[in-house]
Order: sequence, then structure tokens, then C-alpha cells
Amino acid sequence: MVKEKTSLTFYGGVDEVGGNKILLQDKDVKILFDFGMSYNLRRKFYSDPFLSPKSEESLKELGILPNIDGLYKFEDSKKQIDAVFISHSHMDHSAYISFLKDSIPIYCGETTKTILEAISQTKPTNLEFNINHLEFKIFRTGDEIKIGHVKVEPVHVDHSVPGAYGFIIHTTNGTIVYTGDFRTHGAKAKMTQDFVERASETDPLVLIHEATNLTNAHLSSEREVERKLIEITRETSGLVIADFARADVDRFRSFYKAAKANGRYLAISMKQAFLIEKLAKDKHLKIPSLRDENLKIFCKEKERYYGWEKELKEKFTDKMVDAETIGKRGNKFILTLSFYDFEELFNIKPPSGSCYILSASEPFNEEMEIDFLKLKNWLEHFGMPQYHVHVSGHILPLDLKRTIAEISPKMAFPVHTEHQKLVAKFIEDLKIQTVEVKREHEYVLR
Ligand SMILES: [Zn+2]
Ligand SMILES: [Zn+2]
Repeated sequence: MVKEKTSLTFYGGVDEVGGNKILLQDKDVKILFDFGMSYNLRRKFYSDPFLSPKSEESLKELGILPNIDGLYKFEDSKKQIDAVFISHSHMDHSAYISFLKDSIPIYCGETTKTILEAISQTKPTNLEFNINHLEFKIFRTGDEIKIGHVKVEPVHVDHSVPGAYGFIIHTTNGTIVYTGDFRTHGAKAKMTQDFVERASETDPLVLIHEATNLTNAHLSSEREVERKLIEITRETSGLVIADFARADVDRFRSFYKAAKANGRYLAISMKQAFLIEKLAKDKHLKIPSLRDENLKIFCKEKERYYGWEKELKEKFTDKMVDAETIGKRGNKFILTLSFYDFEELFNIKPPSGSCYILSASEPFNEEMEIDFLKLKNWLEHFGMPQYHVHVSGHILPLDLKRTIAEISPKMAFPVHTEHQKLVAKFIEDLKIQTVEVKREHEYVLR
């Protein structure tokens, strides 16, 4: 008897960190898992802001958008993809859903939808991020979503953004497990444990796993980050300036606690405030609301404000604080300020004794290295020393190996990594077949 075909094709996330786009074909069903922007591929051709993509066609011609039939809204073709599942809201997993036909349903967690919509509302319309035409379908852990005969079980995992999921996919030829981005050392390790336990129960044929963090792993925890932030803030006589990812609510909570423990306000950007207001409504996330007495919103001096900024200013008038106030009362604030807003430092005039805390990953590509040098020049100019306090959103090497052993698949496909060979050798003794993933190659699983 001829068995029905099941196959996997990787259109992104191959030998690169991010850009995941995984196509599953099972008989006549076609499902994509993640459809992110590949920063790597994009960087090969473009240099913002002077050279940015002008059309969908140019992105496709350059291979930044993969050549998949019946997928894109800018092509007059019949829909051929049944559904897209998004593991989490990071752009390297989600941004390019912008190009998809509106008839293709996008499945994601509620928080992912909230974050993507908040980003969309606070960002000028953009070729590479425009999600207004899409139909989102919300799932939660415990659901079983049927796309034709294929069953998809989303299970929450812990990552550096809330609302992250892994998937357990039941196909004609066996179960496929996809981790998305995940970790076991974060604030909500239990969620990842739930996912791993459920995955191992299914005796999977395939595990598609991330392997981002193999050459620069730091053993730490969000608890430790919090403790360090409290200590640095306590010892700092001037202003504390912090840079961390807008949607990383664990880090937001840690900075909030550092402010509160030291009798300071945490002043966040308007964009972050807009997002936090929406996320704070979800009681599961346990984040302080904007009304909290230790929170303020940093309002930049501008000629004109966007509609969403005006609304925020009106709603939270008493929460707004300007650059001059923050500078004058430096020892009363932790201010979140991205490097790209450093012009504000001229208005803030950080007092002597101020510190800068980088609470994101270290630079990992050439562009980031260049920006990092510029950042150091600014800190030099303003006399602020830099601390690096961070814990990764990605699983650490030994935890990864233990997790793969526990899930115990027949085959492992490492994605979201520049170290496929390293990981294959590192887990060789587990006697699991590690497949070297090639971009756009169709792996038939029967
Ligand atoms: Zn990622
Ligand atoms: Zn991620």
C-alpha cells in the first residue's frame, strides 16, 4: 500500500537566527508555521533608511519572500495554503504575514494578536508590516485545531515575550513537534515544562527545535536580573537609563520592582505605555497597570503628536513626565530610552552619577556592532558608565539537550541557529537522527 505523503520545507530560519517559515504538507493540506522576516537575508541587499524595499515583487525577486504559490495578496492566484500558525509576536516569526492573502486564516495566541495590533497602531504604515487585512483566529493551550484532517495542539512555552507557543502537530505519518522560540530558565519555566511533557507523550516522529544559544550562553535567571537591577539602582546617585525590548514583560516587571524598591518611578516610552495598557488587562500576565503609583510615561517634546499619542496623553495626563523633570530629579527615576531616542539626552541632561543599563542581547551582527560603538560614544559624552544585565529568551545548550532527550523524537531538525553542525555533534550520543536542514528542500517524512 502506498502511504500518503507528509513533508516539511523550510523557507527560513535555516542557518540563521530568525526568519522561520516552515511549510507542512500532509496529503492535500498545506499549513505554514511562522512567517517571519529574515533580517539576515534582508541585510544582504538593503541598508535602511536609504535603501529599503519598495515593492513586494522586489522582495520576492531577491528571495527574501519565498516563492510559494497561492500565498500572497499581491498575486492574482488561487489560495493554496490552508492556514498559518504563528508561535509568537517577534517580527522574525510574524512580520511577513503582512503579505498573505486575507482568505488565509492566521492562528495565534490572544497576547500575540494584542501585541501585533498594538505595534501596527503605533507604527506608520509600512510595506513590511501591515496586518489590517488579516483574519486572526485565537487559540489557547488545551485547544485542538483541525485544518482538514491535520490536528494542531498549541501549548504555551516561556520566551522573552508573553503569549509564546510551541505546536504539536498530528499528521498522517506521525507527530511533528515545533518548539518555536523557548527557554527553561525564564520566569515561567513551568509553561515550557507543560509543553515538553505533552510533546513527549505523543512519541513524536519529528522535533523541529530552535538552537539559538550555543556559543555565548550565560547561566542566569530573571530573578538574578531583578536582584542586579535593584542593586545597581540603589547605588546610583543620578538617573538610571535602561534599554530593553518593549514587549518583554518579565523585564518590564523587573525594572518596575527595581524602581519601587528604591523609591523611584519607572518612566516608560509612549509606545511601551500604549502596549502595557493593553497587556495589563490580561490578569494572567500580572503586570502593573499604568495607573500604578510607581509608573510614569515619558513624553517627548514634539511639534505634532500622532492620534494614539494624543489619546494616551489625554487619558493619562497626570502620568506624563517631560525630559527636563526627569533630568532635574534624576535620582527619582529609572527611564527606559532606546538608543534611537538618544537625541533626548540633550533635553534630559543626565546629572553626574547617572548610569546606563543595557538589558538586551549583546550585538550579534555587524550593524549592531556599529551601533554599539556609537552608543559607547554617546555614553562617553554624557559621562554614563554602562552595565549589561540580561538573561536570554532562548534555551541554554544543556537544557536543550535534556529537552530533546525528554521529547525523544526519531528525527530532529535544528532551526533558528547558525550552529547546526555543532548541535548535531553535541546531541549525537542521544541516538536521534539529526537532519541537516537545507533551505527550500522538501523533506518527505514517510
Ligand atoms: Zn526568533
Ligand atoms: Zn522570539
